[in-house]
Amino acid sequence: MDRKEKYERRQARKAEKERALEEARLEQERLQLKKDKKYMRQAITQAKKAAAIGEVPIGCVIVKDDEVVARGYNRRNADHNTLSHAETVAIRRASKKLGDWRLEGCTMYVTLEPCQMCSGALVQSRIDRVVIGCDNPKAGCAGSILNLLDMPQFNHRVEITRDVLKEECSAVLTGFFKELREKKGREETGNEGREEA
Ligand SMILES: [Zn+2]
Repeated sequence: MDRKEKYERRQARKAEKERALEEARLEQERLQLKKDKKYMRQAITQAKKAAAIGEVPIGCVIVKDDEVVARGYNRRNADHNTLSHAETVAIRRASKKLGDWRLEGCTMYVTLEPCQMCSGALVQSRIDRVVIGCDNPKAGCAGSILNLLDMPQFNHRVEITRDVLKEECSAVLTGFFKELREKKGREETGNEGREEA
């Protein structure tokens, strides 16, 4: 075998190794996305619970070691409390269950991008990762208005994955507001009817 041949073989082995690594990486990503979708579906189920009691449908679950440790949905009106966002409800429950305010090793799946309060709570909780369904351009603080989850000045940064089941998460919200508008419209029509009579 001459030098050129040896060189080419070495290059071929190297290329083969890189291909295998790339394939393994893609497989890993595929499995992660499958898992992310599974838990986001559970977050959507939570959001629907909020809708069922007339709350803006936002839901979340917190997962540790492939197990759901806490669930939460928006209950701001039900609790008469601005602190009762889906995320803060779930953080409280997860901490209670794990017996620790630190949520290290946990991932939160939330249907809508967290607000400034919840993003702050997530940084404080030292959670590892947040998976977001759809963005919230009007109030999101995980990248839309600012990104509190990724401030180099803070002592903790949260890994973010976005757009998981984006359409489904968004549809729950648009469906809710559409129904609300229709209900309002019906009520107004009903009132006009009475006035005329
Ligand atoms: Zn919030």
